[in-house]
Amino acid sequence: MFKQKGKKKKFKIWIIIIGLLLILLLGILAAVVKFEGEKPVMEIEPVPGYVGADTTITGKAIDRKSGIRKLQVVLRQNDRDELLLEQEYLSDAGEEKSPRHQVPFSIQIDTRQLKIDDGPASMQISAWDHSWRHRFEGNRADIEADFFIDTRPPDIEVLSTSHNIYQGGSGLVIYRLSEVCDISGVYVGDDFFPGRSGYYPDDDLYLAFIALASHHGRDTQMHVHAKDLAGNTSRRGFYYRVLGRSFKTDTINISDAFLNMKLSEFYAMDGWPADADMVAQFLFVNKTLREKNNAAILGLGPKSEPRIYWQNMFGRLPNSAQQAGFADHRLYRYNGEIIDEATHLGIDLASVQQAPVPAANAGRVVIADYIGIYGNTVIIDHGFGLFSLYSHLSKTMVASGDMVSKDDIIGHTGTSGWAGGDHLHFSMIVNHVFVNPVEWWDASWIKHNITDKLDSVASQQE
Ligand SMILES: [Zn+2]
Repeated sequence: MFKQKGKKKKFKIWIIIIGLLLILLLGILAAVVKFEGEKPVMEIEPVPGYVGADTTITGKAIDRKSGIRKLQVVLRQNDRDELLLEQEYLSDAGEEKSPRHQVPFSIQIDTRQLKIDDGPASMQISAWDHSWRHRFEGNRADIEADFFIDTRPPDIEVLSTSHNIYQGGSGLVIYRLSEVCDISGVYVGDDFFPGRSGYYPDDDLYLAFIALASHHGRDTQMHVHAKDLAGNTSRRGFYYRVLGRSFKTDTINISDAFLNMKLSEFYAMDGWPADADMVAQFLFVNKTLREKNNAAILGLGPKSEPRIYWQNMFGRLPNSAQQAGFADHRLYRYNGEIIDEATHLGIDLASVQQAPVPAANAGRVVIADYIGIYGNTVIIDHGFGLFSLYSHLSKTMVASGDMVSKDDIIGHTGTSGWAGGDHLHFSMIVNHVFVNPVEWWDASWIKHNITDKLDSVASQQE
């Protein structure tokens, strides 16, 4: 009896001890969880160095363990703190009643509403988690970003005068910007021609060579556009006159002999319709390939150097006759039916077979390669987005990167590409638009529309 009682007592003590140990263990476990020391992490989109009138910065705060408890964003300028965001999150506030391990945020900096001045400022983003550390404040993480607030749009002053531009023709606009810009240039309708500095010692002066594509109307609107580093934009008009030009329409008869001779040159091209009839193959070359080749050629603008390599007028293939003009509208007739149309955006010049082709002016070769319908082609960068193109060559004598002087022989005429007989297809390009080469062959046009303008602005700066 007595013995049994003692056993029971011992048993009770053990239960209490085990119970206490269990509570202790749970307590330690809870403490380890609750007092976790892992800081939140913040992922934010890069804060721009310049912030405009209305900028939004987005990001998220992440805390893998106890979850985000609080977010705070403070904008600081001089000695003034402006609270942009303060938000608390309950530990079970998430959609699935669990801690908010990820809290996305979006901070709007509306300088006018906040009455913040232009000038340097900084932003501090802080996040706390639900840990019991730091007297239940939680682990804290901060991000600080310095930036410059700029709400003033750039000033644009157009320095060049009398902008007379023909349909299919070129022009030049010279302007000054009041501050460094992300992008600036001239809109001709929807076509944007970027301006670049580097011609004048004063880096605030920009040249934009412009073009009015041959298919654009006489009512095309033009203006200078600039966007500064903070995203503020300005536009400025200038006096211009659009002059009409009429272009020829030409019907070209496509013979089976031509198709038999030429189509085989393209059989290895991507997407070649091997099983289709000759008309479908013709359309593949004349439409699909033409578009693809033009896109490659007209994408060279950004490769142009901000230097004027050329001087005086551009040269024309010596002792040659013009076979087709710029912007001729071509109708293609096969078996008495019009099967396609296209605009001829260059001038065809024929001399003797395999005639040597001189560079029209000085520049840097950017392409010496086979380009589909253009065949063997050389493209020369003359600077500030102006290029000359020579195609259907039988052979090229230069390589990409070569510097050439005016009249250097760059290749020989031929029939490579979409050409029936030996000739040179010559084009001029302004940034991303084929322009009428006749203007660039004309010393008087160059003087009135380009060089006089360059000189006149130079003399204004002295
Ligand atoms: Zn041609």
